[in-house]
Amino acid sequence: MFNLRFIDRPSPNYDPRARAIDLVVLHYTGMQSADIALKRLTDPAPLAGNYPGPWQDKDIDPMTVLGRVSAHYVVDEVGNIYRLVAEAHRAWHAGVSSWEGDPDTNGRSIGIELVNGGHDFGLPDFPEDQINALIHLLRHILARHELDASRVVGHSDVAPGRKLDPGEKFPWVRLAEFGVALPR
Ligand SMILES: [Zn+2]
Repeated sequence: MFNLRFIDRPSPNYDPRARAIDLVVLHYTGMQSADIALKRLTDPAPLAGNYPGPWQDKDIDPMTVLGRVSAHYVVDEVGNIYRLVAEAHRAWHAGVSSWEGDPDTNGRSIGIELVNGGHDFGLPDFPEDQINALIHLLRHILARHELDASRVVGHSDVAPGRKLDPGEKFPWVRLAEFGVALPR
């Protein structure tokens, strides 16, 4: 029996969900650390200067207001699962995106962020403890919402050409072995 370790870290960044959940979108955080990612995903007024990174132009005004973002869950490298937004609410993780011709990806999906530096920070491997926690979280989610493995997709699937996450190191095959994603 795998023990899911939940930690509540509420984010104010959400709005009402008006439709049923029929999709799960997986992301990497693409930031330096879990702490910085959690701060960004719970920040009601993010400023560029608080989130430096190679995605920013060097001359950017540090007072530039960034978009508010969130996810339902953040899974860190050792398998802790931070709960930021209740599944009943609409989190803001997919951005400009589309699935099955519908642009409101956030309205239909649960967003899960994996703490991982991604392409901007060396494209690190996803630790086994992190992937094990994700697999068991997905089992719960798919069972509760009566969804099959085909309903678990990556951010790059719903925003091709704009987003790369969760990236080519993400172990889709391992998820597929547990029936929580399709092999690819
Ligand atoms: Zn993403």
